[in-house]
Amino acid sequence: MSTLKSFIKSRKIELCTEKTKIVVFNKHGKEKKEVWKWEGREIEETQCFKYLGFTFNRKGDYEDHIAELSEKGKAAAKKVWGLGERVRRNDFIRRWVLFKYLVQSVMGYGVEIWGWEERGSLERIMLDYTRWIFNIEFCTPRYVIMRELAMDKLRIGWGIRAMRYERRIGTRKEDGLLRSCWKEKEESKWKDVYSKEREKFYNRNGWGINARELREGGNEGRLEKEIIRRERDGQRQWEESKLRAARYNVRYKEFDAGNRKHNYLRKENLGRIGIGEGVRGLVRLRCGNMEEGNKYWIEKEQKRCVFCGKETDCMEHYVGECQRVSSWFRELGENKEKVWKKLWSDELDSEKCKVLSKLERERKKEIEKKKKGEKIGSKSIVIDLVARRK
Ligand SMILES: [Zn+2]
Repeated sequence: MSTLKSFIKSRKIELCTEKTKIVVFNKHGKEKKEVWKWEGREIEETQCFKYLGFTFNRKGDYEDHIAELSEKGKAAAKKVWGLGERVRRNDFIRRWVLFKYLVQSVMGYGVEIWGWEERGSLERIMLDYTRWIFNIEFCTPRYVIMRELAMDKLRIGWGIRAMRYERRIGTRKEDGLLRSCWKEKEESKWKDVYSKEREKFYNRNGWGINARELREGGNEGRLEKEIIRRERDGQRQWEESKLRAARYNVRYKEFDAGNRKHNYLRKENLGRIGIGEGVRGLVRLRCGNMEEGNKYWIEKEQKRCVFCGKETDCMEHYVGECQRVSSWFRELGENKEKVWKKLWSDELDSEKCKVLSKLERERKKEIEKKKKGEKIGSKSIVIDLVARRK
């Protein structure tokens, strides 16, 4: 307080007690609030305070700031999704660009400070947006979606931004405040949240924070590439270990060749006119959304074929024996094996497009019919009960 007093006096400015708040930075949080006085008037003590768009909290971590970014991100993602649905529903390339510029940028505020670690709530927003535009069911695990669509976690790009910022602090001569802040971290032996997360980031990717490459610089491009490669490797390993133990969409590991970017998702193919519903169909098929049989948590009765009610609802049944739909697949190849192979491959021609869109459309109708039937069914039970009671 006295330091502040002399600072303010020396600059001949006045302190506005209503607008000024006090945050006590204390990891464990302190029970009793102290009363802070400024020339007889009280200054309020708060848990967190927003300064230049960044929310600081008393624990000195980024929890409150990330929570706010996640709220903003969610709102932006909803808006951008709605806009895309209305004007460019099947233009996946543009819809992705929109996300990058209008949602990711909002969520990335202050990433230079908090970008060293993965932020689960923000990653989820990107995944939700992906689910919305491709119509992927919410029960589909994250690792399947990321694998199929060859997505990088947001944290990979964000870590690089934190790295670049760190480098700028080192090279900037005129910015006194930043440099002295960095010096303070050095003197306190890198014990704060920022330093700990930074250390973890470099360790995870095979560098100690005292490594020569980081201290001396000079080969930044190579270092960045290497870090991106290692971060991606880490993500792939996570996906693979999850896929090995998967209970939903067990088949995925059979046709997953480890390719990064499947043929049907390449820019030149995605841009083809009239392919939109087919792309959605193939993403849903490969992610396991076309088979109720994948839902290991629902009862056996509910897993019956949505068309004929016999056997389990799965692609083997559709292609091989279902009386209502097996004929649809004949156009894909002259025998069952060829049909099967073409179905799961990552190629998408107009025939396959047609078959998948039809399957998707008709399945949806059947499932809705079933749901309606169940509703009416339960209503009639209620009426029955009421009638009996009378
Ligand atoms: Zn059937």
